[in-house]
Amino acid sequence: MAEILVLVDHVDGEVKKVTFELLTLARRHGDAAAVWIGPGYEGAKDKLAEYGAAKVYVAADEELTSYVVAPKAELLAQLVAERSPAAVLVAATGEGKEIAGRLAVKTESGVLTDVVDVADGFVGEHSIFGGSIVSHAKVSKGTPIIAVRPNSTAPEAAPSTPAEEQVSVTLSDAAKAAKVVEKVVQEKGERPELTEAAIVVSGGRGVGGADNFKLIEELADSLGAAVGASRAATDAGWYPHTFQVGQTGKTVSPQLYIAVGISGAIQHRAGMQTSKTIVAINKDPEAPIFELVDYGVVGDLFQVAPKLTEEITKRK
Ligand SMILES: Cc1cc2nc3c(=O)[nH]c(=O)nc-3n(C[C@H](O)[C@H](O)[C@H](O)COP(=O)(O)OP(=O)(O)OC[C@H]3O[C@@H](n4cnc5c(N)ncnc54)[C@H](O)[C@@H]3O)c2cc1C
Repeated sequence: MAEILVLVDHVDGEVKKVTFELLTLARRHGDAAAVWIGPGYEGAKDKLAEYGAAKVYVAADEELTSYVVAPKAELLAQLVAERSPAAVLVAATGEGKEIAGRLAVKTESGVLTDVVDVADGFVGEHSIFGGSIVSHAKVSKGTPIIAVRPNSTAPEAAPSTPAEEQVSVTLSDAAKAAKVVEKVVQEKGERPELTEAAIVVSGGRGVGGADNFKLIEELADSLGAAVGASRAATDAGWYPHTFQVGQTGKTVSPQLYIAVGISGAIQHRAGMQTSKTIVAINKDPEAPIFELVDYGVVGDLFQVAPKLTEEITKRK
């Protein structure tokens, strides 16, 4: 089967969930060949095997991660030239999309970004206008380079014993034009990262104020969940913008999404509608969110949320 290169998204050896999603997607269309760039491979190799990498290209040279994105595009371009993969998949993150663009120029290929699924023939599916329209696009020149949105594919384990091959690239001067001079680790609380969490509890305008968000946090903590928010809540300054879920916020696809005091506008749905199980708490039985839910509670969140937290805590 043809090889499909998957750029591993990791931070100092800690592999991001999106990599497992990309490996799962790649396996549907060929042999998934992970491309590891930078240090930390030894601690992560088992995870790549667990999600079915048939091969891992390991470029461990620290120089490759000492500069901003360009070296990664140069290494991938070299692999594309030498191995002629059927496609290259990267995560549609800020960095991933920049790598995809640079790689497309270097390999004279077409690029698709923000893809949510890949069909036969490497036809990329896009979800546009807040999820109300699905469009399909196909690269017509070179190697399809496809940036896939995190959380659009459910990762499936498929244990393998990947072959390993050490690779390197001689960087051009242009690739060394911007050096990373400092990395600051963002302070993280106890809660899981929003886009990687198995459970997300989000609050909306119905929460009524910044202080009341502690109800959402308490419910989230009782479940070991991440906290999200609607744009109405973040625009009001009740919760930071980095926690906004939706078209102009983060896309999440957890096992369980609990929407509290959120009406279910199309722009909010765009960021959470692929969640496996959706629960809403809303006092308005006509709220559009109820069209989408698996379980709906019509009630006042100030009564329902604390009771739910109490009940979950009792059962632990
Ligand atoms: C270009 C564009 C991009 C956008 N991007 C995003 C985005 O990324 N994410 C996003 O979320 N929105 C986005 N929006 C905004 C979106 O259209 C909605 O305005 C927003 O999602 C509404 O947030 P909400 O559901 O919290 O508020 P509302 O729509 O005001 O809903 C509040 C809900 O709370 C319920 N409620 C009130 N009090 C209680 C109570 N005591 N108990 C239970 N329920 C109660 C109400 O019945 C109501 O259903 C975008 C809009 C535009 C135009």
